[in-house]
Amino acid sequence: MAKSRVKKVLLSEARIKRRINEMAGEISKDYAGRDLMVVCVLKGSIIFLADLVRRLKVNFTLDFIAVSSYRDAGTTGSIKLVMDLRDDPAGKNILLVEDIVDSGYTLSYLLNNLKDRCPLSIRTCVLLDKYEARKTPVQADYTGFRIKNEFVVGYGLDHNEAYRGLPYIGILTAKK
Ligand code: 5GP
Ligand code: MG
Repeated sequence: MAKSRVKKVLLSEARIKRRINEMAGEISKDYAGRDLMVVCVLKGSIIFLADLVRRLKVNFTLDFIAVSSYRDAGTTGSIKLVMDLRDDPAGKNILLVEDIVDSGYTLSYLLNNLKDRCPLSIRTCVLLDKYEARKTPVQADYTGFRIKNEFVVGYGLDHNEAYRGLPYIGILTAKK
């Protein structure tokens, strides 16, 4: 079973829960009295999104966006929009929710893409920040955990679509 290749639990379910409570509190305070359009980056962020929005104390709408990247093809940073929003972000306070920032290409691309569509404001909220791996300078407004440059799975994050259902975030063993 998938779990057998997880070498180490990096962030336990309880720790993730505590941190998301804090983040939701901070976001609710910052946006008090304002409406939010929460934009979830598919697919890895859905578990984080579900836990985060249930703790928000502001009114929000939800929308989804998906991108693909082609890092292996030598075109580092080549990102493509594969599924767009259904709602128009113009005039909205956007909170972009992403699972992890690694090179930063995905977050930069999405920020530029959304900024071009005239939102009233835009902020980013990421669960994990691999701060040592950045290839383009981008910093989230709300960050759950800063982690080392290791491949993590669980809590929505996959490896070839496996492990998304793990309630914690773990580090995979090397391939045999
Ligand atoms: P970036 O464009 O910042 O390099 O990459 C962001 C995307 O790469 C994330 O949204 C995620 O899909 C994927 N990614 C980066 N690091 C990891 C990781 O350690 N584990 C998993 N499962 N995905 C990762
Ligand atoms: Mg992602």
